[in-house]
Amino acid sequence: MEITILGFWGGYPHKGEGTTSFLLQSEGYSLLLDAGSTTLVQLEQVLDPLLLDSVILTHYHHDHIADLGVLQYMRQLKPTTNIPELIIYGHEEDSTHFEQLTLPGVSKGVGYDPNKSLEVGPFEISFLKTKHPVICYAMRIVEKSSQKVLVFTADTGYFEGLADFCQGADVLITDTYFLEGHERHHAHLTSKETGLLAKEAGVKSLVLSHLKQDVDLEELLSQTKHYLENDIPVQLAKTQLKITI
Ligand SMILES: [Zn+2]
Ligand SMILES: [Zn+2]
Repeated sequence: MEITILGFWGGYPHKGEGTTSFLLQSEGYSLLLDAGSTTLVQLEQVLDPLLLDSVILTHYHHDHIADLGVLQYMRQLKPTTNIPELIIYGHEEDSTHFEQLTLPGVSKGVGYDPNKSLEVGPFEISFLKTKHPVICYAMRIVEKSSQKVLVFTADTGYFEGLADFCQGADVLITDTYFLEGHERHHAHLTSKETGLLAKEAGVKSLVLSHLKQDVDLEELLSQTKHYLENDIPVQLAKTQLKITI
């Protein structure tokens, strides 16, 4: 699968770059994972947004859904006919937001059951509820043909069970918002927790995302590597960074 990072800041966009959104592609299928601000303009550089097959959402905080509405409008207003309804997968534990996923003739909200795995095109996706102020799900995304695994922690503080869920991932993308010293936060991980998590889970590569605008990012990277204690590839998320696994 090919992963393209469209946005990576936590909370709000910064200096022309956006918040959480990743494009996952395999076998001609294109899945958007979260749709933060600037998703649409970044997506246009990689793929005609009309060709997107589906969207899946970890949770309904604005920095993960900000561009959903304009994506719906774009598909509604384009004069091209025969554009299929866009399937938008989201959890159903927030009915106000879930209902907004459906715009008749344009998009259709489909609830995922976090206790079961979900088949989406070439991917099989399983879920784990995270530690966050609103209901949010980490996702383990397996490319069925190759059994390659991407795990995205989504937004989360550290909790028991997270390392098991990330076990052996080819790529782990984390919510690494804080430098060391803010451990056991109710919403996000620190560099130390990220390093320890990736080490315990035995992941093969690591990408730090959901970055904080006023944090020294080189320090964040170096603290993470210190606690990881191995030499797997670790990098900061960047707009239009492509990762192939
Ligand atoms: Zn967030
Ligand atoms: Zn959040």
